[in-house]
Amino acid sequence: MLNVPSQSFPAPSSQQRVASGGRSKVPLKQGRSLMDWIRLSKSGKDLTGLKGRLIDVTEEELKKHNKKEDCWICIRGFVYNVSSYMEFHPGGEDELMRAAGSDGTDLFDQVHRWVNYESMLKECLVGRMAVKPAIPKGLLPKSQMTDISTKEGPSSPSYDWFQTDSLVTIVIYTKQKDIHLDSIIIDHQNDSFRAETIIKDYSYLIHIGLSHEVQEDFSVRVVENVGKIEIVLKKTENISWKCLGHPLEKHNSLIPKKDTGLYYRKCQLISKEDITHDTKLFCLMLPPSTHLQVPIGQHVYLKLTITGTEIVKPYTPVFDSLLSEFKEPVLPNNKYIYFLIKIYPAGLFTPELDHLQIGDFVPVSNPEGNFKISKLQEVEDLFLLAAGTGFTPMVKILKYALINVPSLRKVKLMFFNKTEDDIIWRSQLEKLAFEDERFDVEYVLSAPTSEWKGKQGHISPALLSEFLNRSSEKSKVLLCICGPTPFTEQGIKLLHDLNFSKDEIHSFTA
Ligand code: FAD
Ligand code: NAP
Repeated sequence: MLNVPSQSFPAPSSQQRVASGGRSKVPLKQGRSLMDWIRLSKSGKDLTGLKGRLIDVTEEELKKHNKKEDCWICIRGFVYNVSSYMEFHPGGEDELMRAAGSDGTDLFDQVHRWVNYESMLKECLVGRMAVKPAIPKGLLPKSQMTDISTKEGPSSPSYDWFQTDSLVTIVIYTKQKDIHLDSIIIDHQNDSFRAETIIKDYSYLIHIGLSHEVQEDFSVRVVENVGKIEIVLKKTENISWKCLGHPLEKHNSLIPKKDTGLYYRKCQLISKEDITHDTKLFCLMLPPSTHLQVPIGQHVYLKLTITGTEIVKPYTPVFDSLLSEFKEPVLPNNKYIYFLIKIYPAGLFTPELDHLQIGDFVPVSNPEGNFKISKLQEVEDLFLLAAGTGFTPMVKILKYALINVPSLRKVKLMFFNKTEDDIIWRSQLEKLAFEDERFDVEYVLSAPTSEWKGKQGHISPALLSEFLNRSSEKSKVLLCICGPTPFTEQGIKLLHDLNFSKDEIHSFTA
């Protein structure tokens, strides 16, 4: 029997059911939630009409299936019969029909990029698009300099490698200046070596089956002013390598980031600490052979298999504390990722996450998000508007700004919660405000007790105009806003009404 909640799901007000405004989410009918879809897809019903057969689909064939009751869509080269999924799609039937009989990859990415369609729609799989065979790739000779070029995007990156008796160094020439340690993500598993470099909105991938064994740990160095990345691997045996290895999927490719799939590695749950009555600080440890630093303002996806279906949800890494001296990290901090996660008892994902035991593994994706650290350059007044766990992206931004932005005069956080008990890291926020005179925090509660003397209500013109007082009339300002989608949308509107420009506002949305 399936272990699924029996209540009406999600709640009428849940984000899963409705999101107003800019996003293309539409109200789902009763009984059409993600969990209802999982139930249907596990029922054994033939959802493709092909009785379990998989076929190669030509473009001509795909085009024929373009009606609601017979709708095939291609997503990343796989063709799905989505007729029975129509009513469950968060973007709505009309949205889905826009891709009927054609390639719907972009459409699906726009609505819910993180949803794992391979798992969600596996019972709807008709087959693959019939494609021409790929050109066979050869081995990579020693000291071969490779080069690729694109019509658009950054100038073509390239790589080279060289060796000593004990080391192999792979050098990536990005030909860009703004490359940092968080621009490169490296995963080395068995003999597969994967290094993804984010260059502007593109991803440059080195993906090689190494010809010889190397040790688990490696070092990474970035020469920022020339955009050069050096990855130093330690040979297991001191022998000379004739070649680096053989190319694996998408090796040496430069593709728009939006077109790359999400890569996951299994991270181990190290600790789980209660922060409020429903929010916990999770600490996950990266595998020893992974280099991954989540850039400020970005999120990752966590993946769990729930009743046989892979479900992924986004979470924004934080630091282990707001206060530098609060806790000394026992081991180098970049091996750990911390998350503040609110557990919704009736939610799909978070109760499962909460049930994980210390030592269990959770797949964590590469980072995503469009916040750029350059937005903080020369900022004088930083205003942060956060509701509930919408506080999470503010953690790194706040700490980074206080330490690294010399122009900064003032940082103010307006933190919206239901009750005092919901305020995350309240004592840390107050200690920080006490220690750093540039920082100030104000709480606004929507459901306070009668003892609450502070501000009450929801985001409003009156609250904002009082809060957003600049240090000088023409100060350079940045406003960051994050919370439930309607809160964020309303906040953006109010900020525009108060004459803040688009460039001065960064909103974190799904
Ligand atoms: P869902 O199943 O989505 O439920 C959501 C709501 O519906 C809850 O209020 C739940 O109580 C209610 N509900 C569900 N089922 C029922 C039912 N049967 N009856 C009544 N009510 C019901 N969250 C964090 O905590 N920390 C983060 O750092 C974070 N970062 C994020 C970053 C991004 C970019 C985005 C878009 C979201 C982020 N979130 C974060 C939110 C997170 O991704 C999930 O949406 C959240 O954890 C809820 O997941 P869930 O599956 O447990 O709940
Ligand atoms: P919550 O406790 O339900 O709400 C926090 C505060 O926001 C409460 O005071 C609440 O008032 C108020 N609020 C809710 N909806 C509002 C609206 N429409 N207008 C004005 N105020 C509103 O919040 P939560 O459960 O922690 O949820 C946090 C949200 O942030 C989630 O939706 C999550 O997906 C999102 N998030 C996004 C990111 C990102 O990067 N995009 C990161 C982290 C979190 P009421 O008491 O009236 O409800």
